[in-house]
Amino acid sequence: MVLGVAMESELPHGKLKSIRRVLDAEPLLPPTLMELLTWASAYYHYPIGEVMATALPVLLRRGLPATAAGEKYYALTDAARQLPPEAFKRSPLQQRLVQTLREHVEGLSAEALAEVVKNWRDAMNRLKARGFIRVTEKPCLPPRPAGQHSAPQLSEAQEEAGAVIQAAAGKFQCLLLLGVTGSGKTEVYLRAIEEVMARGGQVLVLVPEIGLTPQLVTRFEGRLNAPVAVMHSGLNDSERLCAWQMARTGQAAVVIGTRSAVFTPMPKLALIIIDEEHDASFKQQDGFRYHARDVAIKRARFENLPVLLGSATPALESLHNAQQGRYQLLSLPERTGAAQPPRVALLDLKRLKLNEGISPPLIEALQERLRRKEQSLLFLNRRGFAPVLMCHDCGWLAPCKRCDARLTIHQRSHKLRCHHCGAEAQLPATCPACSSANLHGIGEGTERIETALTRLFPQARIERIDRDSTRRKGALEEKLRRVHAGEADILVGTQMLAKGHDFPNLTLVGVLNADQGLYSADFRSEERLVQQLVQVAGRAGRADKPGEVLIQTHHPDNPVFAALAHHDYREFGNYALAERAAAQYPPFAHLALLRAESPKPDAALTFLRAAHDHAQGLVEAEVVHLMDPVPSPMERRAGRYRAQLLVQAGERKALHDFLNAWLTQLEAEKLGRKVRWSLDVDPVEMY
Ligand code: ADP
Ligand code: ZN
Ligand code: ZN
Repeated sequence: MVLGVAMESELPHGKLKSIRRVLDAEPLLPPTLMELLTWASAYYHYPIGEVMATALPVLLRRGLPATAAGEKYYALTDAARQLPPEAFKRSPLQQRLVQTLREHVEGLSAEALAEVVKNWRDAMNRLKARGFIRVTEKPCLPPRPAGQHSAPQLSEAQEEAGAVIQAAAGKFQCLLLLGVTGSGKTEVYLRAIEEVMARGGQVLVLVPEIGLTPQLVTRFEGRLNAPVAVMHSGLNDSERLCAWQMARTGQAAVVIGTRSAVFTPMPKLALIIIDEEHDASFKQQDGFRYHARDVAIKRARFENLPVLLGSATPALESLHNAQQGRYQLLSLPERTGAAQPPRVALLDLKRLKLNEGISPPLIEALQERLRRKEQSLLFLNRRGFAPVLMCHDCGWLAPCKRCDARLTIHQRSHKLRCHHCGAEAQLPATCPACSSANLHGIGEGTERIETALTRLFPQARIERIDRDSTRRKGALEEKLRRVHAGEADILVGTQMLAKGHDFPNLTLVGVLNADQGLYSADFRSEERLVQQLVQVAGRAGRADKPGEVLIQTHHPDNPVFAALAHHDYREFGNYALAERAAAQYPPFAHLALLRAESPKPDAALTFLRAAHDHAQGLVEAEVVHLMDPVPSPMERRAGRYRAQLLVQAGERKALHDFLNAWLTQLEAEKLGRKVRWSLDVDPVEMY
């Protein structure tokens, strides 16, 4: 990639490479995007080459020219069709190909062909040379859907939000749409997109995970009646390149994508929307550790356009920015139509006797829903059968050999699995320490709850939705279809179920263990817990039937739950922001985390201690503050010992000046070659 031209260089001639051939007739990325990438490289202290690699589709990185090539389809020409089958019998491979293609008049893709005939390419080329094959390219955008779905009459609050968004057109402004679940945020997005499209502009929509909410894309396509390019990790390389080209040439009016879509070139970009802006998946957790929301805001500034952040549970950083007047706050305080907020009740686990993790009032509420033929959802953020396998005779607990963690029991597949490194072992019949057969699972995972429900409610149809039960392609879609068709009574699942789904007949949500996120080492865990609970509670009572949310907890007095019961996220926000201010955590300070890891027990800490020493010469103690290096909360993971060093600063500029000077020293530090280390600017995960 050529970034610039210079007449001189301080590098020796031998180190410089010459340009042998220019692949593209025009620059791949427009100047504003180059400016964004350069900024991101400096801000995240990550090499520009790697940053650019993130921004480009894989095929371009491999040197293919940028042409919008749809997937290739191979079909027989008329000449081939008129020949008798025996004509190809001298080459069995060619004959197989011809026979296969006879049944597929439209042609087959390379992928489909490979499934039928292994090593098909040579034979195909020979057939093609003889004029028997026609190659076409399928357009990479799906054809426009035929019927357009009509938009509902917007509520007053929706209209108001829409008017502010429209007024922001053509200039940089950050808008935060805070709308309770089911308040019609998506309708506000759609309206804003329609307005931009009417003016001939493009819109970039960033979403956390497309795989989990396939109906979102369908809803956009059905309503907008326009080409929508979808960019997510499930695309193959040519599909990705194609969607990218559609965006870059302006043919796609709307691009919906996950994290990395923030770098898609769009010549007529006029609005960026970030749905569920609080979601942690917008932050890349390895390599180039950028935050797509923050990059999107920077992009909007560079390109002078408005950016709309939407959430029922905004990140505390965003909420703070709105309170400070840096973002304009738009709010949708009520659910649409007749839907009322669900009633939230706390079940005090100190006083209740559990039946395999489920308390009597919750069992009764489930029974009631079955009688009324309504659906229920049980939420438990832990997959597998039980998180610990224990020997009741000697106290042995099944450990992971490579992590400081226990193995999770997966009863269905008779396996023990580590949820941190992926290690797997057979479920033992006897204790490896004392040979006793008295082995038991401690605690509950979704699999165990599913089993318990089958026993408690033999007549109920139960659907478990978690990463294990949806591994097969299409499995999630099929499960969601059954739920929507009323073919399921009780859903059990992890956070996969919390996001964005609209189940009109679902009136009960049970949270089995709300305490997993309380009192944790990570200062963000409480925020994350509330976000998750609000999201999952929002699944109850979305249509005209009132919803109920029952939360099992040992700590019913925690202020987190009060805010939840009052349906007031801002109440939680105020309380949590006051705590952050007192502790000088973001958004009241800026953080960077230096991480190191090594298979050798002390190497990571030794390196970080050296890094700490280097800093002493640089730090202006007033503005940049270094913590002591410490082992990570789970020190050993996948056989590596990990440690971290937190840097805190009151001002961004001071932090970055410091990091620049510090990194130069760290790169020269010999101890650094013995470990794997990385810098995370604005870390989201503190482990
Ligand atoms: P959110 O994105 O805030 O969760 P949605 O936009 O998905 O909310 O809206 C929730 C439900 O209410 C959807 O079924 C949607 O079609 C419907 N809806 C949204 N706005 C209106 C409106 N103004 N009138 C009637 N129904 C609406
Ligand atoms: Zn034992
Ligand atoms: Zn492990």
